Amino acid sequence: MTTHDVVVIGSGPGGYVAAIRAAQLGLKVALVERYATLGGTCLNVGCIPSKALLDSSERFFEAGHRFADHGIRVAGLELDWPRMQQRKAEVVAAVTRGVALLMKGNKVDVLHGTGRIVGPGRVEVAAADGTLTPLEAPNIVVATGSKPSTLPGVAIDRQRVMASTEALSLPEVPRRMAVIGGGAIGLEIASIYARLGTSITVLEYLDTLLPTMDRDCSRELHRVLRRDLKIDARVSHRVTGVEVTDTGVVVHARDRADAEVAVEADLCLVAVGRRPYTEGLGLESVGIAIDRRGFVPVDADLRTPAAGVWAIGDVVGGLMLAHKAEEEGIAVAERIAGQAPRIDPRLVPSVVYTWPEVASVGSTEEALVRDGVTFKVGRSFYRASGRARAGGEVDGIVKILAHTESDEILGVHITGPRAADLVGEAVVAMTFHATAE
Ligand code: FAD
Ligand code: NAD
Repeated sequence: MTTHDVVVIGSGPGGYVAAIRAAQLGLKVALVERYATLGGTCLNVGCIPSKALLDSSERFFEAGHRFADHGIRVAGLELDWPRMQQRKAEVVAAVTRGVALLMKGNKVDVLHGTGRIVGPGRVEVAAADGTLTPLEAPNIVVATGSKPSTLPGVAIDRQRVMASTEALSLPEVPRRMAVIGGGAIGLEIASIYARLGTSITVLEYLDTLLPTMDRDCSRELHRVLRRDLKIDARVSHRVTGVEVTDTGVVVHARDRADAEVAVEADLCLVAVGRRPYTEGLGLESVGIAIDRRGFVPVDADLRTPAAGVWAIGDVVGGLMLAHKAEEEGIAVAERIAGQAPRIDPRLVPSVVYTWPEVASVGSTEEALVRDGVTFKVGRSFYRASGRARAGGEVDGIVKILAHTESDEILGVHITGPRAADLVGEAVVAMTFHATAE
């Protein structure tokens, strides 16, 4: 006797979207979530709260630093940090409530508790009060997401040494903050606090900020973060440890010349990536072994090696992005319903919501060189645009990489105002194999 057609474990962007799509296709769906609210990392402690604080802090910074240039004088500008935090919490509450309503509207059974696979087609849900609910379904979708990683020798105490979750809910704006890792989380959170007056030092191991993005775009962002927000971002710095003192932290690193560097701060954000979350999930009960880096192995259709078990989102690796998890959730639901969807990983855009934003889709120059693809590069600068000058937003670059012979667009990389909005156009163009012309 089955209880459902599909049991989805984890209600982040991967899981809740898979549940909705499966329900829309006529399947009986259960969604299991260990936390009290739905929406996973993204809605509760990730994308949405960080974007709420990015938007609020940018408005504060503009009022203090940019309005005057437009002939707008602001007297008595003050930061109301508790209100900024409260607004963030209201945004999170609204979107997570929205997901709960979507589940109700689509007749998805939501079970709050920890889901554990106990054998082929069987999941047990342990509620906080210890109640166990058995579920049976021919299809199980693992969408358990990820958790913050740390470095050897760096213990996250959540007080002075913290991951993004705590850094997005600080009781007050710190005077000095050290950020380990110049990736998306590091630079977004550094931007929030720098705009509010915190003195920030970022230590990045590789020789560029945002190492997975286009180098010219990263360099442009680095320049603006230094000039406008006074962020001291040091690349080629390998953090080796963090010392907690009576008053704060000292972050120890080795620079390019292998010399010891010590950075003092009130607190330190560890933003060195995230790791897949599979603890207590019972994968072994169906014979699934996680790979060397902890990811659940899947084939191109997102099937795990166990029959009837699928996996999506951060827990399977690739780009750890909400829209990638959503797309995979839809694809798995459609496959379970007998359809043949296809995801082209080349067309998943990435955006870092600093100001200016950095957005990209497709290959970088480095990847094309590595793959032996011949290409040409078109560059354009925001400062050459009258529209950009009218807005007082002249920092930024747009780069289009196209195949030398066919002229097909292979990659689009943008640092600039509203890059996030622009990159969608590039995705559409590339989906239709547009040429650069
Ligand atoms: P998750 O969102 O991690 O959800 C997994 C869910 O599964 C969680 O709710 C967890 O409680 C639950 N779970 C785990 N194990 C069990 C179990 N055994 N039983 C029941 N439930 C379980 N991405 C973007 O695209 N854009 C952004 O702007 C962006 N900003 C981010 C900012 C921050 C600070 C962070 C941390 C991440 C950000 N991301 C962003 C990444 C994005 O949050 C993730 O890629 C996305 O949440 C992955 O979705 P998921 O469904 O795979 O997993
Ligand atoms: P990340 O992988 O983007 O960046 C981590 C950075 O830490 C890298 O640049 C890495 O070189 C550096 N690093 C590693 N070890 C180091 C050391 N010893 N010393 C100094 N630097 C070191 O990871 P993240 O910023 O933690 O983000 C986690 C995930 O969440 C990413 O996959 C990211 O895509 C996603 N995310 C996305 C967004 C967005 O889409 N806007 C925002 C936040 C997070």
